[in-house]
Amino acid sequence: MTRQLWAPWRLEYIQSADQQEGCVFCLAQAGDDESSLVVHRGEHAFVLLNKFPYASGHLMVAPYRHTGDFADLSAEEAIEIHHLAGQGMGALAQVYAPQGYNAGWNLGRIAGAGVVDHVHQHVVPRWVGDTNFMPVLADVKVLPEHLLETREKLARAWPVA
Ligand SMILES: [Zn+2]
Repeated sequence: MTRQLWAPWRLEYIQSADQQEGCVFCLAQAGDDESSLVVHRGEHAFVLLNKFPYASGHLMVAPYRHTGDFADLSAEEAIEIHHLAGQGMGALAQVYAPQGYNAGWNLGRIAGAGVVDHVHQHVVPRWVGDTNFMPVLADVKVLPEHLLETREKLARAWPVA
């Protein structure tokens, strides 16, 4: 697959990130779960929904600590982010039964990162033919309700330990 998997959310997200005061990840972890779309909180890292998802259930996993340097992540942070990404797939499997995932890091603006100074991993569920309904999900008018419902479902389906 050679097309740019990470491109569709980029423009909206970059625009949004630039307009926002402060770091979206630091703001999200300080807020309440529902309005911040936080799905799960770990010890060193947390999981939230992307407000501009590429697919339904598009998760992001970020350390609590504000750092834009991937190499600066501690072993505890790196391990927990990896673990939470796996748990997120477990929750997604229960709720949306995706047929695959894209899981990865966009580091630096040139690599597609909308937020460059707080590293985060994307977990994007994939289904056969999913490119066909992406534009529908990307409609900002239908998103808020959809996102709240998705957050609730995934938080409830989060695997234990
Ligand atoms: Zn931050």
